[in-house]
Amino acid sequence: MSNFSDFGLLPPILDALAAEGYDNPTPIQSQAIPQVLAGRDLCGIAQTGTGKTAAFALPILQRLAGETTRTPRGTCRALVLSPTRELASQIAQSFRSYRGRLPLSTAVVFGGVPLGPQQRQLAAGVDILVATPGRLLDLIDRRALELSGIRVLVLDEADRMLDLGFIHALKRIVRLLPKQRQTLLFSATMPKTIAALSEEYLTDPVKVVVTPPATTVERVDQTVTFVPAERKRELLATILRDPDFARVLVFTRTKHGADRVVRHLSQAGIDSAAIHGNKSQPQRERALAGFRAGHTRVLVATDIASRGIDVEGVSHVVNFELPNVPEDYVHRIGRTARAGAAGNAISFCSDEERPYLRDIEKLTRLPLTVTAAPSAMRLASHTASGRAPEYSAPPRRTAPNQARPGRQARPNPRPKHASNGKRRHGAAAGADPLPAFLRHRPQGNPRGNPQDKSTLQPVRS
Ligand code: AMP
Repeated sequence: MSNFSDFGLLPPILDALAAEGYDNPTPIQSQAIPQVLAGRDLCGIAQTGTGKTAAFALPILQRLAGETTRTPRGTCRALVLSPTRELASQIAQSFRSYRGRLPLSTAVVFGGVPLGPQQRQLAAGVDILVATPGRLLDLIDRRALELSGIRVLVLDEADRMLDLGFIHALKRIVRLLPKQRQTLLFSATMPKTIAALSEEYLTDPVKVVVTPPATTVERVDQTVTFVPAERKRELLATILRDPDFARVLVFTRTKHGADRVVRHLSQAGIDSAAIHGNKSQPQRERALAGFRAGHTRVLVATDIASRGIDVEGVSHVVNFELPNVPEDYVHRIGRTARAGAAGNAISFCSDEERPYLRDIEKLTRLPLTVTAAPSAMRLASHTASGRAPEYSAPPRRTAPNQARPGRQARPNPRPKHASNGKRRHGAAAGADPLPAFLRHRPQGNPRGNPQDKSTLQPVRS
């Protein structure tokens, strides 16, 4: 289907989509919406930033709007579960945008904020509830909510919802749902073990896979820099002095690590904010709001911000530390190049992290371009002079399993370093002392068209 009107969506929804500036459905929307409207259970896999939220939100709105019954007090009709508070909030906001004039209520509940207002909101009955699992169970235990009226359950970031951190809560929640319901799972990644587990929650599901799972968006220009752990902070401060780094999300593995990076950047005269699980909810919200609004140029985050968060115009994702779970890499770099835009991902890799790099390349089936870090002395002198250091680009590495059966090997989409693998020395390089990844700028419309076929491949299974 190439038009939203082909789905038979109600006029208020079509008007809302036009107001959002959505001209046509993205591939995941084209494939998933008719199936969900037909009442099927569905597992939808598509790259990050390609419109999964509307793929489930639009048919849910359509379905609920078509029912004549009112949602009874203390219940809801559609339940969307999300792994993080920020994503839950964003999903609820998307429902509010897409419902337009439809008289459907939406609420969001998550931890870290008082229960009272959430209890009061639920008391009236809510059509669409978006929740994180822990707070949802708290509210159920307090008898503020009852789930037997659920028609549709959505697990967003489904592989995360089904992994160890959430599975027990999820099992408890699912036991409280009616057996007769529609269940929808969406994610950009789906490890095999989790995919098998997901079957338990689905009845005769349709599987919609737009590009193979864990494929990174080709518009993300990805590079890796080998750098000793003790020199990462210095290197980060150096690259962040470049004004091309207009809106940067820096990922660390730990909460303390994120705080340390913020402190170090502050000593280097660079303002940044941190978002992680040790921050209070108001602090988390302020940090994300400041980043969205462009007041904060650099947001330092743990993987709390790696999934689903949609901030327009993120120019660079910097993996200050590589994630030890390779799927997290796919989600982290998916914070840039959203909705058809371009973006850059730079990963700092110390010796100890090389196994993580191998796992990432194996998962994404994409060899990452390697740039060497500048020597300590050069880095120090450039840091003092406020200029970025010179890098030399070693030959490109290739991934161990670049070719997959049935699929053409995907070379790096663009040449990543202008030096063509040749080392550039001294004066010759002096005219342009920046490494390739510093020179690369996102091109095109920062909110381009997510349907662009160069980013999104046709459904394969
Ligand atoms: P999501 O993957 O749902 O987080 O969406 C990623 C981004 O794409 C968001 O900024 C959406 O507003 C945008 N988007 C979703 N669907 C469309 C569409 N059909 N046309 C244009 N933009 C879209």
